[in-house]
Amino acid sequence: MSYHWRNLLGMESAVRELRGSFAENRLNHAYLLVGAAGAGKDTLARTLAARFLCHSPADNDACGQCVSCQMFAENNHPDFLALPRDTRYLTVAQFVERDSPAENIPPVLTMVNLKPALGHGRVVVIADAERLRDEAANAFLKTLEEPPPESLLILTAAAPKLLPNTVVSRCRRVLVTPLPPPVISAELARRAPAAPAEARALAAELSGGSLGEALRLATGEAFADWQKLQTLWREFTPAAAARWAEEIIGGFTKEMDGDAKRKFLADWLNMGALQIRQNLRRGQLSGWAASVGLTALWTAGERLNANVRPELVALTAALNCFAALKEQLKITN
Ligand SMILES: [Zn+2]
Repeated sequence: MSYHWRNLLGMESAVRELRGSFAENRLNHAYLLVGAAGAGKDTLARTLAARFLCHSPADNDACGQCVSCQMFAENNHPDFLALPRDTRYLTVAQFVERDSPAENIPPVLTMVNLKPALGHGRVVVIADAERLRDEAANAFLKTLEEPPPESLLILTAAAPKLLPNTVVSRCRRVLVTPLPPPVISAELARRAPAAPAEARALAAELSGGSLGEALRLATGEAFADWQKLQTLWREFTPAAAARWAEEIIGGFTKEMDGDAKRKFLADWLNMGALQIRQNLRRGQLSGWAASVGLTALWTAGERLNANVRPELVALTAALNCFAALKEQLKITN
């Protein structure tokens, strides 16, 4: 895959800024790309890296032809390192050479201090930089402040608030903004034509402007869960809220780790909120009950992000919805 600015969807302002930096020769040495999960931060990081490493850029874009572009497209560039994103935290050993270096992957500081194999600089991408804890961050603050010449550090984060200030302050921030719903819908129709139209519409609505999220929702279990939810909440009874919690907790399988459960529950919470808004629009729910329900779901989402056990979050959310629905019954009867 070759990386060009034109392939980036809906990132006009980020592209304008980064591409313009090349034109004006004022590229920063460290960037923090901020945007929701699935918003395309990694592709943006790689497009920036490809351009930075390209030997004969044209119009401030990677040429796609030179040896650097070719090796980059094959994911085989000797001067490019992307830290794997499969661990919960980044360790000091990933930044500084230790007695037993990780197999095959050089530490970041070793990488940026090497002479570029192809002679045009080095790039390190640290995706989901929220995984940096103080110890690992401190190990590379100096490098982040003043990297060796010809090196570029690119961090990405969905929640920059969780990053140490010392890291954020040393990077130039670039926002990757959410895609507008019509763009998401059009892309879904193109990339997931097999998904039912209703599933695509749901995914576009729940994606928060992230194409990656939209694709995951349109092609995964979410649509089946949405249909279940519609059946469950067809009648607004307190019992429906209880069954909802049962359905969620019953959906937690042994194979799911904490993160998978959180993701699964987050989908249910988002769908619950969408369902409440739809029922409010249809006049099936009072504004008061809707606001209590939405607040319950929103609070549940916050607790989920704060690492409260997903089972407990689901139960509390259901209990709070239950209370809202009971009040609703009192008002309507
Ligand atoms: Zn090139």
